[in-house]
Amino acid sequence: MSAPRSAYVHIPFCHRRCFYCDFAVVPLGDKARGESAPGSATIQAYLEQLRAEIALSPEGPPLATVYIGGGTPSLLTPKQIGVVLEALRDRFGVQSGAEVTLEMDPASFDQSDLDALLSHGVNRVSLGGQSFDDAVLERLGRRHRRTDLIQCCQWLDQALQAGSLRSWSLDLIRNLPNQNLEGWRDQLEQGLMVAAPHLSIYDLAVEVGTVFAWRQARGELSLPDDDLAVELMALTSDRLSRAGFCRYEISNYALPGHASRHNRVYWSGSGWWGFGMGATSAPWGERLARPRTRESYANWLETQLVGLDPSLRAESAKSLPLDDRLLVGLRRREGVDLRQQAEACGWTDAVCDRYLPLLTARWRSACERGWLIHEQGRWRLTDPEGMALSNQVLVEVVSWWDELPDHVAVRSSP
Ligand code: SF4
Repeated sequence: MSAPRSAYVHIPFCHRRCFYCDFAVVPLGDKARGESAPGSATIQAYLEQLRAEIALSPEGPPLATVYIGGGTPSLLTPKQIGVVLEALRDRFGVQSGAEVTLEMDPASFDQSDLDALLSHGVNRVSLGGQSFDDAVLERLGRRHRRTDLIQCCQWLDQALQAGSLRSWSLDLIRNLPNQNLEGWRDQLEQGLMVAAPHLSIYDLAVEVGTVFAWRQARGELSLPDDDLAVELMALTSDRLSRAGFCRYEISNYALPGHASRHNRVYWSGSGWWGFGMGATSAPWGERLARPRTRESYANWLETQLVGLDPSLRAESAKSLPLDDRLLVGLRRREGVDLRQQAEACGWTDAVCDRYLPLLTARWRSACERGWLIHEQGRWRLTDPEGMALSNQVLVEVVSWWDELPDHVAVRSSP
């Protein structure tokens, strides 16, 4: 496994928790913004922790992709984002031409903030739009409204046209309560109208402990059924492909030249660094999820001063486990070459011949239903049916993996 060239940094702060969100976030309310705001002391203290964690990391080659996500990273001032990027430059260096993405919330920045962020080295923005419908935004617990979103899209488009921004992406949420084909078609048209060159479209998932879970328990959520969900996804694929977008992963659509390079790292089996509360890293094949609260993250950081987690050291490098490779690889348009992936994990011909057919037998029904196809040596989900019902294919991978003998389901050295 080659040394990681990508880093994810988690900024956990949000104004408030959206009603569907179970991420590792710290709601700061209106005290959040600006260096003299009351929330700033909290942010400053966290930035110090981040800098300490990045400085503790073993050295590595210059980074080709950086992704600052959250939370709401755009609650930080451009200068504070600059501090994070500087810490990465100090530890690893950042390649010229690297992709540097920042997640931004439409209610948390203006055009001068955007200009300042670009001058600090951000060159790709992922905008958390979620919906162009004010009533929906209200029900999701979002702070911004349609006019904020349209304004932000205009600033991003202008920066793209001017060449100061390399690309940007718009997030939209689908499969919302009471959503129908007409309403979703209108959302897609608005997404195309604002000229986003990349769209990330996520289906609503009702997570335990959220306001949405509580509403669901009270029978107040009328979510689209499976048939409508498939139709919504088919509509998405059809409309976006006619607009020139390629669906390069289950949730991601890009115009030519605008696919996220950082996303590809996660899906390609390469390693990445991760920093911050709740962040996951896998620099050398083994995943490490950091604690999800500020206090437990601070305690964990203390332990790292005494002895770095083994997963962060090159000596403990392992290949990514085969089940992970398949679960991630099947989400991509190009799918997976099963045998090639197994061999990359150290499986011999005899082990492949004995155990891979057990998985392909499990997939037979999905193939018969047209959800999964095998062509030119690769297995891939069909679009839209297979991608809409991907869980039914992926769950077979999990069951197959669980039933393998222990000596087979192990990870090899790279
Ligand atoms: S802004 Fe994003 S991370 Fe923050 S609470 Fe809302 S959905 Fe979660």
